[in-house]
Amino acid sequence: MSIASLAPRADFPLLAANPALHYLDSAATSQKPAAMLDALRHFYETSNANPHRGAYALSALATDAYHDARATIARFVGVADADCLIFTRGTTESMNLVASSWGGAHVGPGDEIVVSAIEHHANFVPWQQLALRTGATLRIVELTSTQTIDLDMLRDVIGARTKIVAITHVSNAVGSITPLQDVVRIVRSRSAAVIVVDGAQAVPHLAVNFDALDIDFYAFSGHKLLGPMGIGVLVGRRKLLEAMPPYQFGGDMIEWVRDADSTWNVLPHKFEAGTPNAADAVALAAAVRYLDGLGMANVRAHEIALLEAAEARVRALPGVTVYGPPAAQRSGVLSFSLADVHPHDLATILDQHGVCIRAGHHCAQPLMRRLGVSATARASFYVYSDGSDVDALVGALTAAQQLFATVD
Ligand code: PMP
Repeated sequence: MSIASLAPRADFPLLAANPALHYLDSAATSQKPAAMLDALRHFYETSNANPHRGAYALSALATDAYHDARATIARFVGVADADCLIFTRGTTESMNLVASSWGGAHVGPGDEIVVSAIEHHANFVPWQQLALRTGATLRIVELTSTQTIDLDMLRDVIGARTKIVAITHVSNAVGSITPLQDVVRIVRSRSAAVIVVDGAQAVPHLAVNFDALDIDFYAFSGHKLLGPMGIGVLVGRRKLLEAMPPYQFGGDMIEWVRDADSTWNVLPHKFEAGTPNAADAVALAAAVRYLDGLGMANVRAHEIALLEAAEARVRALPGVTVYGPPAAQRSGVLSFSLADVHPHDLATILDQHGVCIRAGHHCAQPLMRRLGVSATARASFYVYSDGSDVDALVGALTAAQQLFATVD
């Protein structure tokens, strides 16, 4: 099949070193371009010192590099006020931060927290636990038959008691893209709730503009968008962030420490206790520049071409169920099952053909329960994927079906 990759495989050392590898698990974590790895190494080789601490030039260099990284990433996701972009360990930590800090201060008995049935556990469990801790009620919005949020039910569920609406932008398990504008319109017209969006699967694939979205918090992870593991982002509205209590305490996040109490530093430092992960932030900024160079419109067009091609061919196999809406309303992933073959067995056989896919509940057990399955097989594409990956996937699936038919 003749779909070329958008980014040269040669730019990705792991892929270049393994030409026979078909990496179709980018929704779990993306491969890394040399430009990002070089930036990481360059920081430690040329600018390594603890940011914000020293009065010497090297520390100022590290501080500037960290500051520039924040500005670059803020621009990439449409955040004009870069100090409202907090570095975290990833989406999981970002969600826990909002649940603990904003949730802990504002949610109480009788309040309602709204999530959907499609959420990743990172955007489900923190809210469930907040509700259990505070005596609030967790309301779960169900899905349409093609696994997108049911807007009619959302309309019914949102009311004066709703304090938080936490929803994913793109589902990691089946790829559905949430119609965020509709969600925002419904929530804003019926409540004063804060809207928290999980952008872990959206920022790698779609052009995101936080300031234009009219939401309150947005979270994502660096490692899914060509960046390193261990760095992620929480963006929030300044007014909310300034009013929120700190999430963690320690160095850097304080203004004054008296014997009996303390005061807090300004944004973003109030939410970045301890030595910051400056090197990974710098590397993530390099990854973002690389994606910018490809163009997010091209990234999206490329993944749609791959998804449509892969879906048409996978659907043509006997006994296949594909989950989620049509490819054009999905991002990144093709989630499916083959009759009589457990997804885990499938993934193991595909691995023998050099094809890496994910099998499991994709950290979305509430969704799996609603689909009536314990697991699905998931192939996910990114900028370095090409038609040969689709060929390899279909070839390996065919081989797996033949194997299981023989074993029967
Ligand atoms: N939300 C979604 C939709 C995800 O896909 C993931 C990662 N699989 C997360 C949240 C959690 O991200 P992380 O593990 O990087 O914190």
